[in-house]
Amino acid sequence: MQFDNRSRRSKILRDVNEIKASKNYTFASTGESNLSMYEFAPKEEISLRDFEDIAAQRLKALRKIEELKLREKSYDEFKVSMGKELHPIFKPCTLHQSGVLEDQRKQIRRDDVIGHFALRLAFCRSPEDTKWFVTQEVELFKYRFQNEPKSAILSFFADNKFDAETMTASEKESRIEDLASSYGLSMEKVRNSDIWMMDALDALELVRKRKVLVHAGKVYLEYESLITIIVQRLRATMNSSMARANQYMGVIEEQDRLLPRLERLTKGGYGGKEFNAAEGQSISRHQIDSASSQFFPLCMSGIQSHLRRNHHLKHGARRQYGLFLKAIGLSLDEAMAFFREEFTQKIDSDKFEKQYAYNIRHMYGKEGKRQEYSAFSCATIILNNPPSHDDCHGCPFKHSTEDNLKSILKANKIKSEDIDEMIALSKINQFDKACSLHWEVSRGHGKGSLSSLITHPNQYYELTREAVGGHQMEDMTDDKISQTSCE
Ligand code: SF4
Repeated sequence: MQFDNRSRRSKILRDVNEIKASKNYTFASTGESNLSMYEFAPKEEISLRDFEDIAAQRLKALRKIEELKLREKSYDEFKVSMGKELHPIFKPCTLHQSGVLEDQRKQIRRDDVIGHFALRLAFCRSPEDTKWFVTQEVELFKYRFQNEPKSAILSFFADNKFDAETMTASEKESRIEDLASSYGLSMEKVRNSDIWMMDALDALELVRKRKVLVHAGKVYLEYESLITIIVQRLRATMNSSMARANQYMGVIEEQDRLLPRLERLTKGGYGGKEFNAAEGQSISRHQIDSASSQFFPLCMSGIQSHLRRNHHLKHGARRQYGLFLKAIGLSLDEAMAFFREEFTQKIDSDKFEKQYAYNIRHMYGKEGKRQEYSAFSCATIILNNPPSHDDCHGCPFKHSTEDNLKSILKANKIKSEDIDEMIALSKINQFDKACSLHWEVSRGHGKGSLSSLITHPNQYYELTREAVGGHQMEDMTDDKISQTSCE
């Protein structure tokens, strides 16, 4: 093991020296394009403070992208909101606009590349982190690519060694029938659209799927297919370089200075939307059982059942569940009454006040640093503070044994073939897909009907409430509560 680390460390040093010695590298490949394929890490030395600030700025932008994807119903609406909400907080999105001075442009491109690579380092340490980061980066790239004028796209292709150009009018005319029939377009539409020609080797996936017209080693592409190809290469580059970076993380020599900063960037979850109770959204403690059975994801309904059965929650569950309840609109007074009524079935009120009341007020920002705490995202629940055997917090798709997960899903009346599918997804760490599938089949919607994956328990809750049209929750009387807890 030590030998392994030594040889990795000397390889890193060799790589660093090679990068420092290379004369050709500039930040955005050649410095001429607004966009980068991020194939070369920057070699400039920067302070850790700048490193962290630039990375934090980019992370804010990626979170915003995720939030907008969840919020907007169509891609057109998403693009409009990106223009309004992302441009003011993330300058690289404004590079295509005229009026950016040359010096500013260089600085923005530099920060774009540094921010991207800083976050690669921060997010390479688990498959879930990597997947989240790559998804948001690809969305950002696609959006920026679509804003670039044709001349800028051509220079981006030249910088990144894509052999691509648009067909001239006479070239199109010579193949007009093939092009129109291949893409289901009228000849007029073909004449009026840009059709791109690219080396077939750059488009193997589309060629394999017979989705493009191929002739003499070239593929002929509409704009959407062109983006697909660029994005495939970007995704592959990011995935492979992050897998490599992950191997090196254990041996980098900045354990004390760099690692805590990377940790800070990913800590606290990265679900884009921060869930706090929206104005006018409220729930009383008497409605929680009804809401749990109708609207809660498995991670939260499991804690609710545990609480009713055992009249107690340990710290991890109190925090995961307490912040979730707060974000669905349970007031501090109601939360206090809810936990007090349940806990004092086992302990006296004095003990409750001394040991637990502070903790509840703290979650609502009334004690300590008086901070507003948001509900945990799935990433936070999955990646931080894993439950031990007698804890009930966490995510069942990640933390339950296969047998336990099976019985939870059976009790949830999920069909056995769907249970098998969810278990298979959980085994390959696709917890978001498993949970989204759970949402779809348990609500009687078709598989794949959700337009985006579940990444937050409160997103699950809101989607469920929306799907039933804000269906009224039943108030639970004490009799009904005791029936529920005995099930
Ligand atoms: S994926 Fe998220 S919402 Fe679903 S059960 Fe796990 S933590 Fe809860």
